[in-house]
Formats: sequence, structure tokens, C-alpha cells
Amino acid sequence: MKKGIIQQSLGGFYDVLCDGQIFRTRGRGNFRQKKIKPLVGDKVEFSADDQQHGYLLKVLPRTNSLVRPPVANVDLAVVVTAVVQPRFTPNLLDRQLVALAKSKITPVIYFSKTDLATTEEYRQITAVADGYRHAGYQVLSGRKPFSTEQLAQLKAVLSGHVVTMMGQTGAGKSTLLNHLDSRLQLATGEISQALKRGRHTTRKVSLLDVAGALIADTPGFSSYEDLSIDAETLPQLFPEMVKVAPQCRFRGCRHLKEPGCAVKDAVASGTIMKSRYEDYVAFQQMIANRKPKY
Ligand code: ZN
Repeated sequence: MKKGIIQQSLGGFYDVLCDGQIFRTRGRGNFRQKKIKPLVGDKVEFSADDQQHGYLLKVLPRTNSLVRPPVANVDLAVVVTAVVQPRFTPNLLDRQLVALAKSKITPVIYFSKTDLATTEEYRQITAVADGYRHAGYQVLSGRKPFSTEQLAQLKAVLSGHVVTMMGQTGAGKSTLLNHLDSRLQLATGEISQALKRGRHTTRKVSLLDVAGALIADTPGFSSYEDLSIDAETLPQLFPEMVKVAPQCRFRGCRHLKEPGCAVKDAVASGTIMKSRYEDYVAFQQMIANRKPKY
């Protein structure tokens, strides 16, 4: 019995990465019976006499699993965020950060199109970047968006992790992938072509080894409409609020109308970004307005 990580899934075959070698395996019938669909990123036990004819024996427990792209055990996501074209709005970024926190994925914010910003816009975005750093996030933002130093910095952050890329269309995900490794660009290009033609294609999902990180070649995770988070959990997904919440007068403070709220004090004193708090309140409102599911 060997242990490895599923690196590619295609047509019922699972390529498992184990000690730097790839083993082609198939799932045994018991996976279908148990309704377990092995995913790329799954840590698995398998048996193989040679590299071509292995069998998956067991899928080990997952830390998370995404639908788009279908990848399990993602621990980092690069949130590619355009600073202009379209103009940066904190709301979308905060939604992405909340969705990631809910899936227990560490975000890395990567500001793109910084070279297209005016001096004033860039000054503003630098303040925004500092704000998110202060809130507890890793942020990469440079005047030249794909400079050698910045890419080296990103690779160092990603190394050793299973990574997915997320961001709005046009934010520059593909460009960033291309800068990280030209094989990634190829893969995303193929998929978007297939989608444009509207053809039903067998989705191949792979994790490509880039500077010691396993990066999903299919960007995604771009639907944040159904956050399905409850009102009690939401405050836990804002790291800067988690930090000061012990100083709130009431335990379980939701930081809305409660007196003696340390979060509201921190917003008033500028320690917590106003835009983050406004988004928090807007998300709480959204949760409150959500129709109950029966
Ligand atoms: Zn509070």
C-alpha cells in the first residue's frame, strides 16, 4: 500500500503523485457504492505493481472540497484582484475572503493591473493593501504587477501548498498563471476555448507542480452568491474582528447594535477598515434577509 495525492483526473483514471513519481490508478467499485468521487487534491491510499495499473483503495478525510474547480484539500487561494478596469471595490474582495475563510483556505491577495492605475489610484490602492495586511492578510501589490521579485515572493508563499486561483474575469488570472508557468496558461486557454465553443468536453483537472506548489490549472471558485453562512459564524470569518472581539462587553457580540462593542470602537478609531465593517454589516443584512430553507 502506498500513499499519494491525486494530481490529475481524466476519464475514470486518477494519476497519483507519490515520491515524485506518477502512478495511474482506477477507482475500485467500492467508491461508487459509497458515493465517493475521488477528486484532484485528494490524499489517497493505493496499490500499484507498476506505474500504469494501480488501484485506489481509500480516500483520506478532506479538509475541504471545491466544486469549481473540483479540487480537494486546497490550502491556499490567490485572489487576483484588478485595481482598475474594473475599478476595485472592497465588496467583491470581502465576499471572496469570507467564502475562502469558510472553506478554511488561506487567501493571498494579488493586486493586478497596478501598472494601469494613475498615481493617485495607485496611492489609494497602496493604502488599501496596507489595510488588508493590517487585518491579517497576505497582500502582494507592486507598481509592476508581474515583476521578477513579486513573482519570486509569490512562489515562496505558494511553495508546499495546494493552490487555486480565483478572481473576476479580466482580473488577470491567466496572465498571472502564465507568468508562474507557461503550462498553466496552456491549460486555462484550452478550457476557455472549449467553453466558448459551447461544446461539452470532458473536464480534465490537474494540479501542476510549479516551484514546489501544486496549482490547479483550472481557475474558478468565482460564485459567491450563496455564501450559506449563518449570522453567528460570519464574525469568525473576519480575522481583525476575531482579534478584538474578546474586548466586547457581551460574549457572542455580533458587532451590530450591541453597546460596548470593541469592533465598533476599532472602526471608529480607524484600527479596523470602515469598508470592511460596512461589508460585514451588509453580509449580516443579506443573511437576515435570506429566505429560510425547508
Ligand atoms: Zn462587538
